[in-house]
Amino acid sequence: MQVNLISDTVTKPSKGMLEAMFSAAVGDDVFKEDPSVNALEEEVAALFGMEAALFFPSGTMANQTAIKLHTQPGEQLICDHYSHIYHYEGGGVSFNSGVSCRLLEGDRGRINASQIAEAINPADFYHSPKTTLVSLENTTNKGGGAVYDFKEILKIKTLCEEHHLALHLDGARLWNALEVTKEQPKEYGAVFDSISVCFSKGLGCPVGSLLLSSKEGINKALRFRKVFGGGMRQSGYLAAAARYALKHHRKDLRKDHLRASELASVLQQSNFVARVEPVETNIVIFALKSEFGEQDFIQRMKALGILMIALGRGKLRLVTHRDYTDEQHQYVLTTLTKLNTND
Ligand SMILES: *Cc1c(COP(=O)(O)O)cnc(C)c1O
Repeated sequence: MQVNLISDTVTKPSKGMLEAMFSAAVGDDVFKEDPSVNALEEEVAALFGMEAALFFPSGTMANQTAIKLHTQPGEQLICDHYSHIYHYEGGGVSFNSGVSCRLLEGDRGRINASQIAEAINPADFYHSPKTTLVSLENTTNKGGGAVYDFKEILKIKTLCEEHHLALHLDGARLWNALEVTKEQPKEYGAVFDSISVCFSKGLGCPVGSLLLSSKEGINKALRFRKVFGGGMRQSGYLAAAARYALKHHRKDLRKDHLRASELASVLQQSNFVARVEPVETNIVIFALKSEFGEQDFIQRMKALGILMIALGRGKLRLVTHRDYTDEQHQYVLTTLTKLNTND
């Protein structure tokens, strides 16, 4: 048995999704003439109650465009020290926007209003970089799929308004957060100046992200996307996959979350595990007891057909997704349990 729990990006399109892609109506999206892309952008903008949306080949490009929209070179943004925009976007914040990051040590990737308040540089103190943007991530990736408390987000919004700061949400896994909290996308749309969402994570699309913002913001974003090389032609084949996923795959996220919590319970009882971080969505982060080496463990699991990754500092990660079958899940649970009795 081969089980890939490295990331929720390893999925392949479902049969229904492939059929939707095959039969998509397409055009040249660089001329804004792809009906499937236009429909996706309109549908998701309406879902979030935001004015407009723009389709991107990656979440990274959508985030980088948002940062470019809200900042000028030399300015500073505030984010958690685990942020994807800081860790996993190749230094794009400085490369693309000439902006520095003020990193806060949040709670599993989540920062709060009082921490942010302390990190805002006084607007009239010209010695420091001017703070212009706050960027949040929900759910948090490196934070282990943690979900924000919406009340805290509202406090952060008030603070941003007081200080004239833009507020961006890296919502690559916002679909997972919404599944847990049952909040409405419109509540998010009312708070953030821009939101990026991914279709290539839990929703199971091969490619695709959207940036949501005001009409004015998206008009500017269109130019930045071009500059970043993200203008695509018949991308309606990809947009059709995203539309299909929103309709048919969103509800399945619940199953990913349930299985992640089942994996966590087995790990919790294992004699080789020192600690399992709280599981709120589809990401399980755990640490081995000091006598077990991470790389040895990964190799041992690989030999048993189970793939996972190390996050550094003794942490390992499992991510559940829609291509992880019931049979595979039972196999992983049994294998972890057996490993326990053998050791
Ligand atoms: C996956 C992810 C992204 C986008 O990644 P791409 O691989 O560029 O699509 C952005 N933010 C977070 C938190 C993510 O998990």
